This record gives sequence, structure tokens and C-alpha cells, in this order.
Amino acid sequence: MSQNSNKIDKNLDKNFKLMAISAIVLLILFLYTIYKSSAHIQNSSYYLGIGFLFILLGFALVLKFNQEKVRDYIQSKRGGKSIKNSAFNEELVKSRAQTSNDILNSDIQAVSSNVTFKDVAGISEIKEELEEVVDFLNEPKKYLKHGIKLPKGVLLVGPPGVGKTLIARAVAGEADVPFFYQSGASFVQIYVGMGAKKVRELFAKAKLSAPAIVFIDEIDAVGKARSGKSNDEREATLNELLTQMDGFEGDSGVIVIAATNKIEVLDDALLRAGRFDRRVHVGLPNIEDRKRILELYLKEKNHEVNIDKLANDTTGFSSASLATLINEALLCMIKREAKVLDMDDIEVAKNKLEFGKKQIKILDDKQKEILSIYQASKAFISKSKVALFDESVEKLNSTYPSYHELCQNIKRDLAGIIGVEVIKKEKYAINHKDLESAYSTAKDIVEKYKMSGSVEELITNIKNELRADLSHNAANIERLKNIMLENEVINVEDI
Ligand code: ADP
Repeated sequence: MSQNSNKIDKNLDKNFKLMAISAIVLLILFLYTIYKSSAHIQNSSYYLGIGFLFILLGFALVLKFNQEKVRDYIQSKRGGKSIKNSAFNEELVKSRAQTSNDILNSDIQAVSSNVTFKDVAGISEIKEELEEVVDFLNEPKKYLKHGIKLPKGVLLVGPPGVGKTLIARAVAGEADVPFFYQSGASFVQIYVGMGAKKVRELFAKAKLSAPAIVFIDEIDAVGKARSGKSNDEREATLNELLTQMDGFEGDSGVIVIAATNKIEVLDDALLRAGRFDRRVHVGLPNIEDRKRILELYLKEKNHEVNIDKLANDTTGFSSASLATLINEALLCMIKREAKVLDMDDIEVAKNKLEFGKKQIKILDDKQKEILSIYQASKAFISKSKVALFDESVEKLNSTYPSYHELCQNIKRDLAGIIGVEVIKKEKYAINHKDLESAYSTAKDIVEKYKMSGSVEELITNIKNELRADLSHNAANIERLKNIMLENEVINVEDI
């Protein structure tokens, strides 16, 4: 459909150019011939020839200036859905009128995605969240008639290899719309203004192909907070991105999905309402997800792999590293000229990944237990859902936080460390970021808001409160730890 129309666009552009160029070349050749032999050619065929060439040139120019209409006509004849039936039609026509030929001719092209949600194993909650976007792209009228606008931007936040790109492709595939992929780094150019131009081109093309998905991978490369130091090119690019996101309406049919590993470095302006106001956290796969992913990759393979055991032994693997693991194991199988993949192949592959170039942190049982106590204590104190590899629990975030709320946030930071200390009767170095965050809040309490006398005293008091609370509830923490060991996630109902 829209991919088809892209192809038509490209061919038309080429034809227009070819016609104009050939007419001009012919004219020059003709004039040159006349000039060389002007004395001899003076009969009617001369006037006929030059008249014909002028008609040809005029025709090419008329076509060139009306190429939008011609394109629309041809597409409508071919039944192009994006033009005839689209609920995004008006926006499309408007954006066409604004689009310069430069942009139409840019090399940014959409691909059609053949990935669907079936190819994305596990992470069912994330798929559910994005199903709404797919439905909107499939049946915009259902939403538009109630005046509902979907968020323009969805930000997928998570470590590398957890399937952020795959999910975005699956959304495009499910909705059967063109997929425009750009990495944030590709916008960062040497010459000032080039990045901004590319952003403009990307959005213009996407609007022309609406409904469409624009995917910007590693958006932090361009969306880093604007610092005092000057980096004109990156700032110009970021500003253009902000302008473009403001410049289209939620009913334009373009949905921007961006991915980042470092949401904390993103410029606040990007996260403001009307831009990437929907955020979806994609964490490392939990044990159930890993089972689904392994099943997917072992489907139709001849194997004797105990998937349950392997899912249990691959704590800390991203989805991408699971895919690599199975691939490496299959290579081992081929090397030993066998026809059935077995656990030995998996072990060899695992060692290769663990000690080889692509180092993956594989936790042994003791490490997994410590991490489970750490996260169980955090879940218990914050009363919120926590997964085994979550970096921090969500903080209370009110506009005018009270002293009590600020102290609660410090508790949420320190709960994990103190929980392990209480249960294991020993201090463990687990996550230094907890301390940094706790001290930063305590510093705000003392220095910014003058709510307390000393940072050290405040932290010590909170640590003591946590020790008392967690020792009193040690049995509960042990119970939550076991849930975490089994499921790699503690839900609110478990607490
Ligand atoms: P990210 O964008 O988060 O870095 P990708 O989407 O590029 O990760 O994932 C890399 C590869 O890992 C994918 O091409 C796919 O082979 C595999 N993969 C990731 N997540 C999943 C998943 N949920 N199910 C199946 N395969 C996955």
C-alpha cells in the first residue's frame, strides 16, 4: 500500500527528471546544429523541428510543476489506500503542499516491516500497551470521531538488546504501515544545519506516507540535555526535532517511537506533554519471557534442550544474547557434525559468551540470592512492583514534596542495601547509585530547603529506621526473596 506508493513516487520523480533533462539536451544540440549550419537550413522543417522541441520542453515543465497532481491521479487510479481511503487525507494534502521537492527527493526511505507481535516473544505487557497504537493506525476513525488523539511520541526505555527496535518494527508490521528507521547518531553531522535538514526530511517523508511509524533509535545521541557548552549542530538538530514534533497533530497518522538506554540524559523538553509523553520501560526478560524467547528460537529445531532449566540458568541475559546463545550452540552442533542440539552445545556456547568478547554477566545462585534480597527489600518498602534487574524503584514525585515524602524517597534508595545487611548480617557492595541518589536528596533537604541540620545525621537516622523495620519483617522479606528467585519479579499483590 504505502510502500507501493513510495515506489510510484520514486519512479515518477525519476521520469520527470529524465524528461526535463532530455528536452534540454535536445534543445542545446539542435541550437548548436543551427548555429554551425545556419546558412543552409532555412526551410519549414527547421521551424517545425524547433517548434516541436519547444512543445516538448513546455510539456516537461508543466508536468514537473504539477507533479503532485499527476502523482495523486496515478495513485488514485492504482487504488493507493494512503490517498483514497485514508482518514489522514487532509493532513496529507496539507503537508504535500508544504513539502519542497528537495525533501521529496531525499534518500530517506521507508521499509515495510514483516515483523509482527508473533515474532516478539514474552514481554506481553509491553505488547498490550502498544496494541492501542496499532489499533489507532488501523482504525483511526474509531478514535478521531471521539476527538481522541494518541500521543505523538512513545519512548521505549531499556538496556540494549531487549527488543526495542523489534517492538517498533512489530507495531509497523501489525498496522501494515511504512517504517522509517533512523538512528539518533545519524542526525549528528559535522556541518551545522545538516542534522536539522535530515530531521525535516524524515518528518516530511513520513507525513507523505501517513499513516506511518518513525523510529529513532538511540535518541540520546541527539536528544541530550542542552548544556551551557556550545554544540551548535546538535542543538540545532534537537531544536528541529522539537519543532517537528510540535508541528504535526495527533491525527496526522505519524507516530514517532524512539528508543533510549539513558532517559536521564534526555533534554526535559523532549519529555514534555505533546512530545514523548508516553514512556514504556522494556527491561531484561524475566524467567517467563526467557522461556518464551528460547521456545521461539528453538522452534522447528531438532533439540534436546531443557528449556525450563536453560531459562533458569540465563538470568541476566538480554533477548538478543539469548538469540546469540542459541545461534552459537547451533554452530557447535554443526562443528561436531551432529543433527540434534543438546545441552553440551549450550554449555560450550554459554562459556564462549561469558568469557568471550560478548561478555554477559551470568549470576550464580549466591549472587542471585543477594540480588533477590536487595530487590525484595525495595519492593517491601516502596510497596511497588520490582523486577530482578530493575535499577531503581519509582520515587514519589509530587510538585511540592513534603519532608516525609523526601525521606521516603531516601528510604526507597537505601532499602535494598540495608535489607541485604539485615538478612545476610554483612554489608555488600551492590549498587552505588542508590547511595548517590540518597545523598543527593538528603543534600537537597539540608542545603536547599533547610529542613534538617546535617546530611550525615539524616542518612544515619533513616538507615536506623530501615534496619528496625526490615529486621522486624525479616520473614516477609525472605518470603518475597523466594518469590523473586522463582519469578524474577515481585508484583504488588505479593507484598
Ligand atoms: P534493542 O533495540 O533493544 O537494542 P533489538 O530490537 O535490536 O534490541 O533486538 C536485537 C535482536 O534480539 C532482535 O533482532 C531479535 O533477534 C532479538 N530479540 C530481542 N527481543 C526479542 C524478543 N522479545 N523476542 C524475540 N527476539 C528478540
